Amino acid sequence: MQNQTAFGAAVGFSVATVFFSAPLFFKLFRRDSSKKTTTLRCLGFEMGGTTCKVATGEKTLNENGKVISVKIITKFTVKTKDDPEETVQSLIDCVMNAVYEEVGIAHFGPLELDPEKSDFGKIASTPKLRWSDFRALAVFKSKMPTRAKRTTIDTDVNAAALAEFYLGGHKVRQSLAYITVGTGVGVGLVIDGKPVHGLIHPEGGHTSVIPHEFDKDYKGSCKNHGKYCVEGVANNVSIAERRGIDKEEIHTLNDDDKIWEVVGFYLGNLCANILMMTSPEVIILGGGVMQRKVIYPYVLKSFTEALNGYLVHPKLTSNLTYLFFYIET
Ligand SMILES: [Zn+2]
Repeated sequence: MQNQTAFGAAVGFSVATVFFSAPLFFKLFRRDSSKKTTTLRCLGFEMGGTTCKVATGEKTLNENGKVISVKIITKFTVKTKDDPEETVQSLIDCVMNAVYEEVGIAHFGPLELDPEKSDFGKIASTPKLRWSDFRALAVFKSKMPTRAKRTTIDTDVNAAALAEFYLGGHKVRQSLAYITVGTGVGVGLVIDGKPVHGLIHPEGGHTSVIPHEFDKDYKGSCKNHGKYCVEGVANNVSIAERRGIDKEEIHTLNDDDKIWEVVGFYLGNLCANILMMTSPEVIILGGGVMQRKVIYPYVLKSFTEALNGYLVHPKLTSNLTYLFFYIET
């Protein structure tokens, strides 16, 4: 088991959004002629189903435009409201006096990511009803007190995957997958150094896994797929429903509760499916549910059992160095 801390522990999830707005902007601002680096002042927003975050920070790029470091200066968290515009305003109120050149928005999906379309940056249909059809990118741009030189948007998991790819210290060359497990289960993929959008964007959290033997009677929490997708059986809602508590109370469940083995089983199978389908060089699991360390051995066990010796690689031996767990601080 490996705990990924090189990037994650020090700065938290919002770094992803501060980071990912970078690459094309290296010619601007505060070029240091002796070191040939450029430092940009940035805002990063992370829009989640339960909480949203905003961070102010700086990122430094080398002469080739590659981000070489990110520094978070301030970070704020607000509760996600029913009204999306109110939520955005609450976040912007936290950073009204910030100075910035770039803005990155990491948003829960489904999200239109084709810049050629008029709906670019708009949320599609979502169970959070008032957020359906929310024009996220346009609203952020209209409410910002200063017009940024560049404002970018991507899914929350793609932003995290990009940050891990470039700054996570994983020594990967081309590819990486990041899975978040919270109210939703999302999969962000980076292939050839770029986030995968595809037709819409990957929704790996809604792919199927076989039922756990202790869990055959549970109906699942996903409104579209019931128990026939990972999100429906591994998100915090599903954990809470099985135990008859609110999802905010799952921290009260003991480590010896069988639910952790069940959740770990599903996530290990998801990791095996991702490896089989796209073969990323590493997979990282993060999000609120993954802060329960008791899950980790069950993920590793079910991942290994799902592969069942089929793939041979030094990272996939008994000393598994393929799966990493993101620990929030
Ligand atoms: Zn589903």
